[in-house]
Amino acid sequence: EKAEIGLIGLGVMGSNLALNIAENGHPIAVFNRTTSRTGTFFEAAGDLRKMIVPCTTLAELADAIKPPRPVIIMVQAGQPVDEQIAALREVLSAGDIIIDAGNANFRDTIRRFSELDGSGLTFIGMGVSGGEEGARHGPSIMVGGTEDSYKRVEKILIDISAKFEGEPCAAWLGTGGAGHFVKTIHNGIEYADMQMIAEIYGVLRDGLGMKPKEIGAVFAEWNKGRLNSYLIEITATVLAADDLDTGKPIVEMILDRAGQKGTGKWSVIEAQTLGVSATAIEAAVSARILSSLKDERLAAEKAYGTGGVSKFSGNRDKVLHDLELALFAGKIAAYAQGFAVMDAASKQFGWNLPMPTIAKIWRAGCIIRSQFLGTLADAFEKSGALANLLMAPAFIEMMKEAHPSLRRIVAQAAEAGLPTPALSSALAYFDSYRQGRGTSNLIQAQRDYFGAHGFERIDAPGAHHGPWAGGG
Ligand code: NDP
Repeated sequence: EKAEIGLIGLGVMGSNLALNIAENGHPIAVFNRTTSRTGTFFEAAGDLRKMIVPCTTLAELADAIKPPRPVIIMVQAGQPVDEQIAALREVLSAGDIIIDAGNANFRDTIRRFSELDGSGLTFIGMGVSGGEEGARHGPSIMVGGTEDSYKRVEKILIDISAKFEGEPCAAWLGTGGAGHFVKTIHNGIEYADMQMIAEIYGVLRDGLGMKPKEIGAVFAEWNKGRLNSYLIEITATVLAADDLDTGKPIVEMILDRAGQKGTGKWSVIEAQTLGVSATAIEAAVSARILSSLKDERLAAEKAYGTGGVSKFSGNRDKVLHDLELALFAGKIAAYAQGFAVMDAASKQFGWNLPMPTIAKIWRAGCIIRSQFLGTLADAFEKSGALANLLMAPAFIEMMKEAHPSLRRIVAQAAEAGLPTPALSSALAYFDSYRQGRGTSNLIQAQRDYFGAHGFERIDAPGAHHGPWAGGG
């Protein structure tokens, strides 16, 4: 019997995805550049071996799959994907489908669609979230391509995807780069979520002088309420864990330098290109950049001293309550920004992105999965087109309750010298967004003064100039 599908790239994600596919009853042919890895993978597959055809060449892979063949590429993003596509073109035939399931830049995906145009091959750009565990037992799957090509692989994708109360977390989101774009913004939001959690951890550690296990207990408690989410859950777990070598809390032994692979940066670049404000995501990416300057930060601490010396004032229970709500308010602003970026891209690229569906397929399987996304899906379903998540009635209520806490936490952190870049950006975004009369009248006056840019008046249509003609 021939395989139903093929997969190239048996790294962390590919090997787990292959086992997931096999376990769901779909025979799969697999290939990896380094052949020994294919052997190791196959040996370790246990009972699932009968569902797996290990291949040492791409020709063998093509031969092992029943046409028309779907082939998933799950290799390092970038050039390796182009190489694999080129190699597959040699062995596949008309009607076959190439699915790039890595974290591609959606602009590369759009290019690959056009390069494959007229080749007879179909292309799908598919975002997969959930890390190793998700790939193995059910990821969230974001598909971009023609709806027809999605239909051809829908059964397998639905079978392997995470389920939220029985509903599959896999969906077709739009043509071309839609799936990879949505995955990129998912990761941008993930950066913001993680950064804001880390900032709250910083306040608990340096402002309230709490130990990792105590902080872990706070997050575990919060996980029972409105912040309930995978990221809060794992935060509680890692804060409680001890280092096997020293017996100390492991977080205290980990160097404070965060890595990144590009999706956060792409989110920010695309937001700026589309003219959408995504300050919490920008702050999160920037914070990782600053985190990498360990030596400079140590030198600066010597020169200036560091924050956290003044303790957070007030009753501890009240501060903890404020911290919980501050994190929630920051989260609302970050998601509002992420969805605003997707809304702008949807219009720009003609994707017609289904916002409620996106929120729904993120409720399980992916890294940002949370109770909150259910509320968000409801809001989009109830309100139809929304200018901004902040204007959904349910979110107006939640934000009214939560923003005073965000304000108090950001203010106290600023006084104590504790950095809260993402939380304070979220607050500034909210305050700017809700300010009916802003301060850009002055910017316009300055621009007109030095560059004769002209400005609009509040009391008359058309372009006007100030009384400083020729002054600039
Ligand atoms: P790994 O580093 O574990 O594996 C990389 C795979 O790519 C290996 O199979 C490797 O083959 C192959 N590869 C690298 N370069 C080439 C090349 N030039 N030609 C052919 N094959 C090549 O990566 P991951 O599994 O973590 O990631 C794969 C993709 O999934 C990436 O796009 C990643 O961003 C994305 N992703 C990762 C997630 C994660 O949590 N890890 C989550 C969601 C998406 P070889 O064995 O020969 O080196």
